[in-house]
Order: sequence, then C-alpha cells, then structure tokens
Amino acid sequence: MSTSERANEAATFERQRAERAENELYAAKTLESITEKERDQLREELATCREALNKTRIEADKAIDDATSARVELKQAHAQILKLAMDLDEAKRRSAKDDAGITIHACPPKGSGLMPCCGKTPFEVLGDRMTLNPAYVNCDRERLLAENEKLRTSG
Ligand SMILES: [Zn+2]
Repeated sequence: MSTSERANEAATFERQRAERAENELYAAKTLESITEKERDQLREELATCREALNKTRIEADKAIDDATSARVELKQAHAQILKLAMDLDEAKRRSAKDDAGITIHACPPKGSGLMPCCGKTPFEVLGDRMTLNPAYVNCDRERLLAENEKLRTSG
C-alpha cells in the first residue's frame, strides 16, 4: 500500500468516526429532548394528581363533618324521643290518676285563699290535690262532668 493510499484510508476512517460521533450526538440530543418532554408530562400529571388528592381530601373532610353533624342530630333526636317517651309516661300516669278520680286544683295565687280553677278554698276539697303547674290541673274536667251530669238529668 502506497503512502497516499494509506493516508486516504486513514482519512476515510477518521471521517467515518466523525460521522458516527455526530450520529451518536444527535441520538443523545433526541433522547434528551424526549426525556425532557416526558419529565414535563410527568410533572403535569403529578400536579393533576395532587389537585385531585387535595379535592378528595376536602371532600373527605366535608363527609366527616357531615357524618359528625348527622351523629349529633341523631343524638339530639334520640334525646328528644326519650323525653317524649317520658312525657308520654307522665301523661299516662296523670290520666290514670284522673281516671281514678283524683282532682287536681290550681294553687291559689299569692295573697289569695281561693283556687283560680274553681274558686274554692283548699279546705273545701281536702281529698283533692293542688299543683303549681297549670298542665296538671284537671279541676275543670270535674266541672265539665258536673255540668254534663246536670244537662243529662235535667233533659
Ligand atoms: Zn279547682
């Protein structure tokens, strides 16, 4: 092989190496650009996920709040039911006493000796009872029964 041939061969070899290097550089740059795009996309997806997570967290907090207030309302309703049941028991007890014929008068107001329900003094009806609570007074029932009886016997 002559000197010029050898020089030619070396030059070709160098050119090919330079081409390969350029190709590799191009490939690396392409890869870098793809990687950057993927990174940006991942960042976007991460932001979307974070947003969704925050929204879910807020909704979960709200659901917990709702459940808590529903529980409080349920407790209040339960307490109300208990109170109503007690009131009902009390009403039943009272009506049973009414049926037993016990008359309950309203207490005379301060400074008066007369009971406002019937105008009698407590000494006139010693077997009856008195109360300060107007809801318990059934003296009027006695009066209505008497009037009813009067109407029945006169008619
Ligand atoms: Zn009375």
